[in-house]
Amino acid sequence: MTIAYISHPDCLLHDMGPEHPECPARLHAIQDHLVARGIELVLRHYDAPLATEEQLCRVHDRAYLERLSAESPTEGLHWIDGETGMCPGTLRAAYRAAGAAVHGVDLVMRGEATSAFCAVRPPGHHAGRSRAGGFCFFNNVAVGAAHALAEHGLERVAICDFDAHHGDGIEEIFRDDPRVLYCSSFEHPAYPYAGADTGGEHLVNVPLKAGTDGRAFRRAVADAWFDRMAAFAPQMVLVSAGFDGHAEDDMTRLVLGDDDFRWVSCEIKRVADASAGGRVVSVLEGGYSLSALGRGVAAHIDALLGNKHGAHP
Ligand SMILES: [Zn+2]
Repeated sequence: MTIAYISHPDCLLHDMGPEHPECPARLHAIQDHLVARGIELVLRHYDAPLATEEQLCRVHDRAYLERLSAESPTEGLHWIDGETGMCPGTLRAAYRAAGAAVHGVDLVMRGEATSAFCAVRPPGHHAGRSRAGGFCFFNNVAVGAAHALAEHGLERVAICDFDAHHGDGIEEIFRDDPRVLYCSSFEHPAYPYAGADTGGEHLVNVPLKAGTDGRAFRRAVADAWFDRMAAFAPQMVLVSAGFDGHAEDDMTRLVLGDDDFRWVSCEIKRVADASAGGRVVSVLEGGYSLSALGRGVAAHIDALLGNKHGAHP
């Protein structure tokens, strides 16, 4: 069992100012906690490459890439929406974040790693084909999924998104692609005010009301996701791993705990073990309470290592 940990110092270059919750310190918090827990020692570290234009254009319009390049500032911040800003280092970080997902897919397909966790930012699941927003520029998980389909010839890929916000960008990109099963759980009503009224053969949305605790979360997700996933029999599972549903994270009003992230990760791994040879490629999305983020990622990776109960050697 080998878990690849893919990151890059360039992901720290994206900085939307000292007050912004989507901050470089998030990656330090994750790294520090993995070291403290001893999990870091069992991971195999890789540098994220830059995604290529070909890889990005599988899910994004070329004109959108050109627009982002044109809007990239040489100094200061350029705001795309009220909360999503570009600094001079943003695009380079975004290319690394998408490149990490691609590299994770390549590593697990080559058998070099059983699964992969991409500790990257900016996050991706709100980015649409030609739209940035919600802290996102490139849809990292979608780029990874499209790479698995196009480059490795997979026919069925599942994406599990347990971030507390709906991944409207992923839904937009793969809505009409039956090769991709998208399962999402999210607070509703809340940003981006999408997903509650959509669904379909390849789209499993689980809206959760404010105040949803771990027990209700597990029941709702267990009822909706895993039979559908098992029937779909994915050949790879990608994860939009967001930890902003934690009770200590004030970005949302979900009330989840560390063990809920462990539970959902174990269940995802169980499906991946059954049909996908255990192949899971997980990419960081949200999570803004630094302490809860570190613990959530540790529980997630621990689960991917096959540790169901948290006692790590
Ligand atoms: Zn989120």
